[in-house]
Amino acid sequence: MTVHTGVLIVGASAAGLATAEALRRGGFGEPITMIGAESQAPYDRPPLSKQVLSGAWTPDRARLRSVDFLETLQLDIALGESAVTLDVASRAVQTDRRIITAEHIVIATGARPRELPGQSELQRLHSFRSLEDAVALRGDLCDAQRLVVVGDGVLGAEIAATSRSMGIDVTVVGPQAGLMESQLGPATARYLTELHEAQGVRTRLGAQVVGFDDAAGRVTGVRLANGDTLDTDVVVVAIGAVPATDWLSGSGLDVDDGVVCDHRCRAAEGIHAAGDVARIRDVTTGVTQRRENRTNATEQGIAVAADILGVGAPATPISYFWSDQFGTKIQVDGSISCDAEMSVLEGAPADGRFVAGYQCDGVVTAVLGWNMPKQSRRHRGRIGTTPSDVEGVA
Ligand SMILES: Cc1cc2nc3c(=O)[nH]c(=O)nc-3n(C[C@H](O)[C@H](O)[C@H](O)COP(=O)(O)OP(=O)(O)OC[C@H]3O[C@@H](n4cnc5c(N)ncnc54)[C@H](O)[C@@H]3O)c2cc1C
Repeated sequence: MTVHTGVLIVGASAAGLATAEALRRGGFGEPITMIGAESQAPYDRPPLSKQVLSGAWTPDRARLRSVDFLETLQLDIALGESAVTLDVASRAVQTDRRIITAEHIVIATGARPRELPGQSELQRLHSFRSLEDAVALRGDLCDAQRLVVVGDGVLGAEIAATSRSMGIDVTVVGPQAGLMESQLGPATARYLTELHEAQGVRTRLGAQVVGFDDAAGRVTGVRLANGDTLDTDVVVVAIGAVPATDWLSGSGLDVDDGVVCDHRCRAAEGIHAAGDVARIRDVTTGVTQRRENRTNATEQGIAVAADILGVGAPATPISYFWSDQFGTKIQVDGSISCDAEMSVLEGAPADGRFVAGYQCDGVVTAVLGWNMPKQSRRHRGRIGTTPSDVEGVA
């Protein structure tokens, strides 16, 4: 069966939904079809490693929109339908059910978790990206005492904090010197590691995982390169995600750790990409960048809609992400490189509340807030200015 539509959005999550909503807000009256590989109605991922894993929210609360609201958008939504190939010239997507041709195609397929060899063969050894993953890990934690989190990035740190708050004995293993070091820089990563350790999380940092032990197909231990084994009941692997572009192989699109797009999120004539899957070229620097954060998914979805509608300037927003761990809200505007120079702008790390500025090559590249959301927002305007603007601020 072949069907034709105005806009086909592939991926029914944050970026895809933001595109659809912005199109309708902008007066787009043509049919919009949205397909999503998961059988769930669009839901939000940030609560999965926090409220859903802890049990504070039932899974339903993570839904992005109510059924009634989705109906007002008049979308033709097909869940549990996967795109399999894309023909750029005819703007045709072959799915596992049919062929859909469209005036505009929006690629919003996000990313999938990176896995370790042998991971999928063992029980109680989890990946973590979807609502299903969150429910499955919570189910296993409810009758477990020990959890090993493989991964010292944002997701690993959040899962560790949530699980520890549930009373689980948690060990985090990862190659970095501090938790989230590549996102926070060494100093703040050290504060975060201290926060985790003070709450009873065990850390095995600077460590490499080489395999798993099991008994009757159920994981029982994590083996480290130094010969140690961490005995455990449950393991979650959170070692990053890769853009979901497998279905685009052979399409002729430029795919290089994401769908490479210009500053308007255009990948080819009539084809855009948005969210975790998109690698966007910065209009001033020419550098391409893929951003895995929630705000970016919405902003790029809105930018794609504006381009389809023929309105609005290209979006080159400052990257922003947040993370909640042990009641601490961490917010980062801009990007912190490991060699960036940090200066505290307000508050004090020892008091558990501060705002820091980061400078690189004479320019402020990022502002970080640690339990100081309002103050952190106030300082974000410093990004792109020179260091003298950052120093000595009380
Ligand atoms: C557990 C977790 C916690 C997070 N917490 C935070 C946070 O605290 N702060 C923050 O800033 N960011 C956070 N993020 C990141 C943020 O959620 C993502 O950046 C955002 O979800 C990206 O949205 P997206 O729509 O681009 O991709 P996704 O949310 O990955 O959605 C892509 C959708 O496309 C579907 N799909 C994939 N392939 C196909 C195909 N071939 N055909 C059809 N459909 C397909 C997938 O099933 C999926 O539903 C978190 C992410 C996770 C996983």
